[in-house]
Amino acid sequence: MFETLSGRLSGVFDKLTRQGALTDEDISTALREVRVALLEADVSLPVARDFVKAVSEKARGQAVTKSITPGQQVVKIVHDALVDMLKGEGPAGELKIDSPPAPILMVGLQGSGKTTTTAKLAKRLKEREGKRILLASLDTRRPAAMEQLAILALQVGVDSLPIVAGQTAVDIARRAKQQAALGGYDVVMLDTAGRLHIDDELMDEVTAVRDVAKPRETLLVVDGLTGQDAVNVAEQFDGRVGISGVVLTRMDGDGRGGAALSMRAVTGKPIRFVGLGERMDALEEFHPERVAGRILG
Ligand code: GDP
Repeated sequence: MFETLSGRLSGVFDKLTRQGALTDEDISTALREVRVALLEADVSLPVARDFVKAVSEKARGQAVTKSITPGQQVVKIVHDALVDMLKGEGPAGELKIDSPPAPILMVGLQGSGKTTTTAKLAKRLKEREGKRILLASLDTRRPAAMEQLAILALQVGVDSLPIVAGQTAVDIARRAKQQAALGGYDVVMLDTAGRLHIDDELMDEVTAVRDVAKPRETLLVVDGLTGQDAVNVAEQFDGRVGISGVVLTRMDGDGRGGAALSMRAVTGKPIRFVGLGERMDALEEFHPERVAGRILG
């Protein structure tokens, strides 16, 4: 009957006329709705369970104030708990890119939106923070991907490292760092190779690049529409390479944002940005309130 979680919760409570504190029964009924809604938003079962438990502890015994209905009160408790769980420490979009040239390592699977995100982020850093950016593609197996980055760099008005055939990813990382230092760049962004699936060869290569690049930030780009898969990818990359933050792409799609919640709960890594489309300006700092609103509906 009610499409959104807020609607469902209000519906549950509108039937109740009780005053005073929320009863255990009220809360259990409401939390069943919350759990279903989280699962529908693609939050993983253990995360949904933990979340419901935390909310239930918060909600129990809270007096119902006269100004809002019990339904509104539970919606607020759930909303605040979602925001708490989603937000990392400090502003999401603030990257550690002091001490130039600061290397940023971009990692992720092929098709996640890594190259697009690299260019979007370069544009943002250039326009908002006045940074001089050098981009380098390390995808030696896919010449088209290297060209794609060069084209996007031109499009957003930043420099890209000239492509030299026959170099390994580690060679390119080294050359990019040297060039960035010589050229007086503030930031050097390394777009590592992606694969369709995680494999040892990919992880070894990215790890070797990391050791040479000594990145200030290692950002994992994952497709926000892939739900639990995105979380598994993040766990694996974090375990093998170590990541400092996550960018969730395709948040303009139909997903309800549940991946964001599972991502935070499972990996503990901050979500820094979200991709909201194919255009170069379709990148936004992560706003926990917006995703909480989307999950609540
Ligand atoms: P890569 O293989 O990970 O480097 O992926 P690409 O950057 O080449 O992106 C793959 C496709 O996804 C391209 O068509 C992008 O335009 C598209 N894409 C990337 N980010 C987003 C996003 O946030 N929203 C949407 N709708 N499309 C995106």
